Amino acid sequence: MFITDRRKSKELLFYEALEVRCSLTGQEVKRLRALRRGFEGERAYDALWEAAGHDHLLIFRDIWLQVGNAVLQADVLIIDDGQVTVNEIKNYSGLYRLENAVWSVNGYRISEDPVAQVRRTVGKLTHIRSKGGHSFQIDGKVIFINPDFNLTSDSETDDRHIINRTILKPYMADIAAGYASREASDVAETIKSCIIDDPMRVPELDPSRIKPGIRCARCSAVDLSIKRYAVECRQCGHHETTERLVVRAIVDHSNLFPDASMDKKQIRWMLADQVGLRCIEHALTKYCIAIKRGKHAAYTVETHYLEELLAIKQYKSRYEKKPSQI
Ligand SMILES: [Zn+2]
Repeated sequence: MFITDRRKSKELLFYEALEVRCSLTGQEVKRLRALRRGFEGERAYDALWEAAGHDHLLIFRDIWLQVGNAVLQADVLIIDDGQVTVNEIKNYSGLYRLENAVWSVNGYRISEDPVAQVRRTVGKLTHIRSKGGHSFQIDGKVIFINPDFNLTSDSETDDRHIINRTILKPYMADIAAGYASREASDVAETIKSCIIDDPMRVPELDPSRIKPGIRCARCSAVDLSIKRYAVECRQCGHHETTERLVVRAIVDHSNLFPDASMDKKQIRWMLADQVGLRCIEHALTKYCIAIKRGKHAAYTVETHYLEELLAIKQYKSRYEKKPSQI
C-alpha cells in the first residue's frame, strides 16, 4: 500500500503559479518543462504499481529524509520483510550514452548521474538500518519509465542498477511477490521518524514581474465576464465562483512567495482590484491562518495545494454551477 501521497514539489508549484501570472524567461520555461516531465514520469510509475497490485507492500513515495547531517529525497522506497528497495524514477527520452562514468544525450554531457543518486540513497539507508537496529537488505534501481529511452552503456556495474520500461512490469511483479508483516512495519516506522518537510527553496521572485489580473482557471485567458459572485471565460466558457477565484489567488501568492505572509492588499493587487475587499477579507479569514490580527492582519496557509485547501475548509458555494448547467 502507498503510505505517502505523490505531490507536486514546492518548485513545481512555484513555476506553475509563475507561468499563469508572469512571462517566463527561457530558463524558467525549460525548468518548468523538466519538472512537469519528471512529475508525469512519477505518476506513470505509480499507475503501473496500481496495475501490479501493492497491498502486501509498504511504499513511501516522494519523501525527504534527514539522516545524520545529510538530507535526501527519495522518489520511492518499497518495504517488505527483509528488504528495502529504492527506486529513482527518470522520465528521460532519447538516445543516451554512459561512457567512462559520464552521461550524455545526443552528444551533450548531462550533469545528473542517476545511478550515483540511487547509490547515495542506498548508502544513507544503511545508516537508518543501523539506527533502528534492523537487518534488511537494500537494493537500488533507477527506473527509466519512458518507452522512448535508449541507453548505450560501457558499465556493467551501473547496468545492474538500471530498469528500463520493457522489463519494468516483471520487475514490479517480482517485488509484489514479497510480503510486509510486523518486521517491515517496524522498518517503515524508523523511516517515518526520519521524514522531514520539503526543504527546497524556490527562487526569489521580484514582485514587479507579476502581472495583476483575473485569469481563467482552465485556460488562463484574461477575457472574462465578471459578475458579482462568479466569472465566466469568454474563451473556453469556464465558470468559477469569486470565492474560489480569490482562494486561487491566495494559494498562488503562497506558492510564489512561500516564506512571506500575505495581507488583503496584496491579494487585491494580485486580482487587479477587480474583487471587492470584503470578499477578499472573507476568504482570508475562512481559508487562512491569521498570524497577525487587527488593522494590519497578515495570513498564511496550512497547505499550498488549492484543492486540498478548499476541501479542508469545506468550500461550498451556491454560485457554483450544478452539473446539469455545465
Ligand atoms: Zn478559459
